[in-house]
Amino acid sequence: MYAEVALPLPLDKTFHYSVPENLNAIVKRGIRVNVPFGNKKLIGYVVSLLKESNISKIKDISSVVDTESVLTDEMFYLAEWIAKNYICSLGEAFAVIMSPALSSSKRNLKSIEENIKEKLLPVKVSHKLSDSQKSAVTEIVKSINKKEFNTFLLHGITSSGKTEVYLSAIEEIIKQQRSAIFLLPEISLTPHFIRLIQDRFPQQLGVWHSGLSKSEKYRTWENAKKGRIKIILGPRSAIFAPFGNLGLIIMDEEHEPTYKQEQKPTYHARDVALERARANNAVLILGSATPSLETYLEAKNKKYRLLELKERIGSGILPPVEIVDSKNQYKRSKILSEPLIEALNKTLARREQAIIFLNRRGFAPGVMCQNCAQVLKCPNCSISLVYHYDAEKLKCHYCNYSSVFPKKCPSCNSSEIYVFGVGTQKVEQELKKFYPQGKIIRLDRDTAAKKGVYQKVYEDFKKENFDILLGTQMIAKGFDFPRVTLVGVIDADTSLYFPDFRSAERTFQLLTQVAGRSGRSYLGGEVIIQTRHPQHYALQNAKNHDFISFYEKEIEYRKEMYYPPFSRLANIIIRSKNELRLIEFAEKFAAELKRFNDKTNLFSILGPTPASRTKLHGMFRWQILLKGEKSAIIQAILETKKIQVPSGILVTADIDPYDIL
Ligand code: ADP
Ligand code: ZN
Ligand code: ZN
Repeated sequence: MYAEVALPLPLDKTFHYSVPENLNAIVKRGIRVNVPFGNKKLIGYVVSLLKESNISKIKDISSVVDTESVLTDEMFYLAEWIAKNYICSLGEAFAVIMSPALSSSKRNLKSIEENIKEKLLPVKVSHKLSDSQKSAVTEIVKSINKKEFNTFLLHGITSSGKTEVYLSAIEEIIKQQRSAIFLLPEISLTPHFIRLIQDRFPQQLGVWHSGLSKSEKYRTWENAKKGRIKIILGPRSAIFAPFGNLGLIIMDEEHEPTYKQEQKPTYHARDVALERARANNAVLILGSATPSLETYLEAKNKKYRLLELKERIGSGILPPVEIVDSKNQYKRSKILSEPLIEALNKTLARREQAIIFLNRRGFAPGVMCQNCAQVLKCPNCSISLVYHYDAEKLKCHYCNYSSVFPKKCPSCNSSEIYVFGVGTQKVEQELKKFYPQGKIIRLDRDTAAKKGVYQKVYEDFKKENFDILLGTQMIAKGFDFPRVTLVGVIDADTSLYFPDFRSAERTFQLLTQVAGRSGRSYLGGEVIIQTRHPQHYALQNAKNHDFISFYEKEIEYRKEMYYPPFSRLANIIIRSKNELRLIEFAEKFAAELKRFNDKTNLFSILGPTPASRTKLHGMFRWQILLKGEKSAIIQAILETKKIQVPSGILVTADIDPYDIL
């Protein structure tokens, strides 16, 4: 007997292996097997069994990973869908679908969920629904009961009670003995949130997050497959939870870029969710205060049902936002503006709490020579090095390269080297200077690198052991602290002028999210945003909490420029250590594409150009951006597969890219 096996290799075919006598009874479609490939050992996925094979030198399957089939029919369908839509091999698609179940070791560890249970304060379990929550739930439950595929956009402002709507929908699913997937950006998977769901659905919940060991993940995966649990809560990869009777998928903060996988296959969890909901006659709920343009356009076109929560729960109101023109302030190297200092004074005097936001960690994001104006860059990445005050080092935020602070400029030998710009460490220093009595805590990727820090800071701030919480994106969302009455944004421009067509959207989303941390209780609150571009529509609409006006302005621009959601993009990245050969090949590659497009004229080709990040991890990078209808883009990428790529050069295609730098 022979087995047709899909391997996680970038080769568009399956492979034949013979089944040794002793495995005859076990090997079947849908199990994983260990096989030799060249001088490597790989895990493969058995697609079918064959009576004969025309391959001459056929090798044996070495052993089996599973004794029973782990790939369901739906997974076969999904794998084909992923392979086709993101242009990868079937084996690569299976590998990503099975990624949460990669380990099969069954050591029984004390789960992190149990740990969480012991340490955390109890949370309130359920609420009487508000009228708008109730009508949203009614609509959703109608679809659940009819077992019809339907997509809802739950557009609710921050603190409008979206979570309660999700939980009521899950309750209905559990009643019907069906299952639900609850997706969150990794960053919102706080112990507090996990605890909330656990208390509501004891024994029914499995959690996936980066803190879990492989065996814990595998156990959860198996529990889901066997129907022992009914809910999986997790980030992007949880969309592949192996439920047999999926009735509901929830995607909270659906606009978050972390739902997009950057490595091959470059899937977007939202698109996979749509496909799974369709295949299972399930309901999909996309929730956000700032929906993506892609999603909101679908709602406008009535492809998704729009459900709105327009008010904050209870006595919370959306806080007034003040925009401070900081051009002159920045010129004088002042980090805190007068209005922000004054507001902080008042907040601390009232014994309330403040959140200060800056989306840039480290002390200073630039190091420059006074004499020759050279900016110090990472030798591997050609990205500016960031000065870290606590470690007294220069660090690269891409590859982790670090060096001591140089005494002399590497190009002119001058010793006049200074740092410029502002990172969270510098803000911390400044805040401590201004408020020596205030208790200040910083949360960013540097301080949260140690396990447990994130949770501890959260708990400590909640218990009011600190007055000011300072941090990056990490603190921008999800946090629900009733005593926070002031949010300050140190520099709103960090994301505004990125060379990316989504930069205004990202800025609006971030500002809305971080502003949403203020005024969540009867105490009220305010927001102060410092910027060089006070008139920009992303800032003005964030100030007015006006998603609709932002959407209308932004969608006009996308239409005019024929950007998504009106077109689809693919970003072809060509990399090599040898810059000259890279340029030569990139030109040739683009010329081939142009020749192909001359015949069809279905898409446009932007580039080739050096990527914004011209060098990463020691590799130079050039890019070609394709823009057009989805089918044309896919066809074009398939066509480029015919181009012979010389050794030492790597080509990758990111379909629907989120990161085009
Ligand atoms: P969102 O996700 O929309 O920002 P949350 O779901 O976090 O908002 O809800 C904000 C707060 O309101 C939470 O503390 C939650 O417990 C509370 N809440 C939600 N619904 C109700 C309700 N019907 N009655 C009272 N409190 C509620
Ligand atoms: Zn110099
Ligand atoms: Zn680097």
